[in-house]
Parts: sequence; C-alpha cells; structure tokens
Amino acid sequence: MIKRSLLATVMIIATTLATHAADNWKIIHAGTLLADARENAKSQQSIVIKNKQIVEVRDGYINASDVDGADDAVIIDLKNHFVMPGLIDTHTHILGQQEPNGREVRVTRSSQLSTLMGVQFGMRTLRAGFTTIRNVGADRNAIFALRDAINQDIVMGPRIKAAGQTISPTGGHGDGGGFRDDIFPHPHSGVCDGITECRKAVRTQIKYGADHIKYVATGGVLSKTATGTDQQFTDEEQIALVQAAHAMGRKVAAHAHGKAGLEAALRAGVDSIEHGSYLDEGTAELFLETGAYLVPTLIAGHTVERIAKERPNFFIPAVRQKALEVGPIMKNALKMAYDKGVKIAFGTDAGVNDHGTNAYELVLMKEAGMPENAVLQAATVNAADLMDLTEVTGTIEAGKDADIIAARNNPLEDIATLLNPTFVMARGTQIDISVPRPDDIFPWPEGY
Ligand SMILES: [Zn+2]
Repeated sequence: MIKRSLLATVMIIATTLATHAADNWKIIHAGTLLADARENAKSQQSIVIKNKQIVEVRDGYINASDVDGADDAVIIDLKNHFVMPGLIDTHTHILGQQEPNGREVRVTRSSQLSTLMGVQFGMRTLRAGFTTIRNVGADRNAIFALRDAINQDIVMGPRIKAAGQTISPTGGHGDGGGFRDDIFPHPHSGVCDGITECRKAVRTQIKYGADHIKYVATGGVLSKTATGTDQQFTDEEQIALVQAAHAMGRKVAAHAHGKAGLEAALRAGVDSIEHGSYLDEGTAELFLETGAYLVPTLIAGHTVERIAKERPNFFIPAVRQKALEVGPIMKNALKMAYDKGVKIAFGTDAGVNDHGTNAYELVLMKEAGMPENAVLQAATVNAADLMDLTEVTGTIEAGKDADIIAARNNPLEDIATLLNPTFVMARGTQIDISVPRPDDIFPWPEGY
C-alpha cells in the first residue's frame, strides 16, 4: 500500500512538473492596440500569453520578470505596429475555389483530396490574418475532418465551424444541375423537398457533426442552371428547416438574393442572411425585428462581375447573366442595411474569390459606405457573436484564445493596410507569413 501511494505521489509531482515545464509564455509589445473594436485603441500595451490563451493585457511595455512564472517568456516586438484581434470570416467554402473545370471536379474529386486542399487554402486564409472561419457548405466528410484535425493540432489552420452539406431543394442552388443521374445521385444528403425531408436533411448534418446549418432560400449566381435568384424553398419548408436546427441548438445561415425568399427566411427565423442582394428598406425593418445578421459577401459579387466582364467564356451564359446583374447591386444593399441599423457580420464567400484575398472585403465594405470602426467590428466582435464564439475570440482580453494580428498602419484610417498583415498569431502560435502569395491569385486588387 505504501509503495503504491508513493508511486502515485511521484507520478502527480512528475505530471505537475511536466505541465509546468511545457508552459509557453509570450509577451507582445504592441505600439498601438485595438483590443476591442467597439472601443478606442491604446498605445504602448503588453499582451501576456500563456500557451494558447491571453492571460492579461497591461499598460506599458513589461518584461518577463514582471509576470509570475513567465521568466522564459519570449518578447515579441510590435512597437511599430497596429495590433488587433484576428479577423473572422463567417462565409467561406474552404475546400475549393473557382476553376474552369469546376463542374467536372464536383463528381471526380475525392473527399480526401478536398480535405488536403482545405489544409492549403486554410493556411492561405490564416496568413491573410483570418484566425477563424465559418464554413457554409461543403462535402461534409471532408470539412468535418479538416475542422477536427485543426482542433486536435494535427494540422495548422484557422479555427473552423462547419455546416456540412448545403441544404437545397431538388434542382436548387445547392443541387448539382445537369449531371446524368447515375453520376450525381439524388437525393444526396443535402437535398430535400417538403417538410419531412427538410427536417431530416438538417438532422442528418447535425448527426455527422454540423456546428450550424446552411440552406439556400433562393437561387444563386453560380448554380449552373437558368433558375434565377428568387425564392426556391417554400415558406413552410424554410420554417421546418429552421425549427429543426434550433431545436438541436444549431444556428441557421440562409443564402438569399431575391427579396421574397430573403424575407421568407427572416420570417422563418434564420440567424443570418448571406448575400442579401435585393433587400430593400422594408426588408431591413424585418432584419431589425428578428435580430438576424446580414453577411454581405461584397467580394463575391465583385469577383463574379469581374470574371464575367474580363473572361467572357469562363461562365456558361446563364451564370454570366446572373453575375452581371447581381454583382453591382450588393454594395447598395449593404449601405441601406447598415444605415438602417441592421447587424453586419463580415463574410466573403471565399472560394468564389481566391482564398487569401478575404481582406479585400474590408476595403469593399468601406467603399460601400461603412466607417472603418464598423467594418472592424463586423470582422471581429460581430462575427464572433454570430458564431457563438464571444467567449473564445473577437477581442484581446484575459481568458480568450490568443488570436492576434498586426498591420503596418492604423486600419481605422487606412483599412487596406490589412491586405498585408505584418504578424499573425492563432491560438498562441505565431504563423510564418513570409510564404509568398500564389501569383495566380484572382482577383487581387491592383496597387496592393
Ligand atoms: Zn457561399
């Protein structure tokens, strides 16, 4: 008995020592720190980080000896930088991006290859300063594997919350139109019609690991059919989808361009509207009533419009037509919604635009008429709120994960400075951002 308890004691001491020895301390000296985008920036601040988390933020530049137990702390000198929380993109498709043979890839690429491509695209996104993403529609086996691998530190990448498969009506924006039915079998797990099937589609995503649900309330620009951008799921189907998700504690994102489908989604109780292209003042009122977020995805509109104009044969005619119609109106929709007081969360639709260009959305939001501080709030605290991550990220304060970026200039005066972050840390790990951007990236704005 004595021997046994002695052994137990030794093991406890050994474990304690091992834990202690493994602690990894860092202190960032921030020339200017915007710890919370709703507040003012402060100069000369120190951020103390232990392992993955922020322990405290102090005035002035402190040394390792000023913090109990942090004698080995690495000092990170960002005295000539503007430091702020890692950015959050609430609308990505991280497993792929546009390519000329995208239609063929849909029925030939394996889930395994998609996951590995997601590792690469995730790193491009992270190096661009985005430490968290909400993926809204993908091959569910592939995306859940990527999310879990990042959570378990098997691979590095942005923190991911994932929807699984996009839920779509048969023939709708999330379904694969135009394939022979033995090649693209129906119904696959994200396609449903009627109340019973719609509930089951939601529950199926949740069963396999969905953090939230994404469905298509209206047609989409890039679906390869001439089915327009108006309402597709009926009001009753949308209500069933949202109820089934909320009953299991999952938020719902609805892809919506046309006004009728968009308003049906809001009435059904969705938590966010993606795109919102054809919203008007009445729609904005409905947003205020329900408290839903708008995720504007201006860069998606900008990208498809640019492709349609500069590469006439890239899209099939039905898609090109929609791209030319929807692209130009999205900025006005955002401006109207913002002026009315609609809550805005940052989201790009990355995958439509190339991964790693996400920050250009910030510039487009500013051009649409949002002030810089509101743009930064949308990409930090608001996005964290929409993703139920307020306790984890979105600000720099004690107890949150150390998701921290820096830029050369003050983004409250020069938002485009965030196109080239000078420092990125995700969950306490500093990311090597010296890796060059791929030179085929499209559309990287000229001059940046
Ligand atoms: Zn999307």
